[in-house]
Amino acid sequence: MIQLRNIQKSFGNQLVLKGIDLTVNKGEVVSILGPSGSGKTTLLRCINFLERPNEGEVMVDDFTVNSKQASKKEILTLRKKTAMVFQQYNLFKHKTVMENVMEGLLVVQKSSKETARKLAMEVLAKVGLTEKANAYPVQLSGGQQQRVGIARALALNPEVILLDEPTSALDPELVGEVLEVIKRIADEGITMIIVTHEVSFAKDVSDYIVFMDQGEIIEEGTPTVIFNYPKEERTKRFFKRIN
Ligand code: ATP
Repeated sequence: MIQLRNIQKSFGNQLVLKGIDLTVNKGEVVSILGPSGSGKTTLLRCINFLERPNEGEVMVDDFTVNSKQASKKEILTLRKKTAMVFQQYNLFKHKTVMENVMEGLLVVQKSSKETARKLAMEVLAKVGLTEKANAYPVQLSGGQQQRVGIARALALNPEVILLDEPTSALDPELVGEVLEVIKRIADEGITMIIVTHEVSFAKDVSDYIVFMDQGEIIEEGTPTVIFNYPKEERTKRFFKRIN
């Protein structure tokens, strides 16, 4: 279970997250939706302290990291429990697909080369990229690169995968293949928190939807409730605008 308690974050004098509380149960897929600038990406990055919150706590199962007291070691442990999939893939350009997936296993988890290679092949099969194991990122489409990003996260066997707008850098015709892979992984029961602008995908894949605006959670609930019976004016307006 992932729990966020009173997460606050400022950039300069701009308060971007105004005290976020959120619980994500094991195996749940939670999508964070909301207008541009509402703080979605910042919230996701606060979960693994890529952005250090000014206030609040992140709990992963019984491991708690406090914004005020977190040591480097605790942050490293938190990052081992959470894996991020970035909008721009963030692959190592001079490494092959296989080496990209193995990197975290070798460096962070200190796995043997043999174990890392075996695991990498398993996750590459899951994202349909077995044949590309020896290719370099530049030889892949954006969709394939993002699937490597997902494989890399999966290989670490984290408690939760955090996906930050995983399809927004892709050409429209490549979005579908990446969403399909995410859906397949979600169906395996891996806990995920997804920031996305793909509303119909979020509806389809999520157990729970969080709607944010101006640094706050305005409304949250199951997709049926949030999409069909939103209570708040801001939520209604947002969905009306994008439909
Ligand atoms: P989008 O959907 O456009 O990606 P978002 O909801 O993910 O938006 P954030 O990217 O979290 O929103 O940004 C929230 C606010 O914080 C914005 O006003 C943004 O300009 C500001 N912000 C984000 N990161 C930084 C940073 N590193 N330094 C200064 N301001 C930042």
